[in-house]
Amino acid sequence: MGGIAAATLKAMGVRADEVLVALGPSIGPCCYEVGADVAEAVGCDSPSLRPEGSRKFRFDLPGFVADQLLAVGVAASNLEHVNLCTACRPDLLFSYRREGRTGRLCAFLGWSEAL
Ligand SMILES: [Zn+2]
Repeated sequence: MGGIAAATLKAMGVRADEVLVALGPSIGPCCYEVGADVAEAVGCDSPSLRPEGSRKFRFDLPGFVADQLLAVGVAASNLEHVNLCTACRPDLLFSYRREGRTGRLCAFLGWSEAL
């Protein structure tokens, strides 16, 4: 399914083993229920899917993207995830799936020598 993370690295013209990746907020596996159509597209044996009932699954979208990045050579030590579920945190984040309407998220990134 997709492969957008690897395609993005390729489009940027960077080597996977040289990048630092930050995965921002997204819907988490705690809240992301998908149907069989998504499960089939992801691959029903994906470790990012957890069956719930006969035709429903919980999908770990950030885990799925992280697995794709690791598969193309991004070092686990170069992969960070904020672990914020957009659906669980209405106090902080917009969620289309929760609110049924669109909004915008914005992030600022920078280096810190202290880390
Ligand atoms: Zn959640």
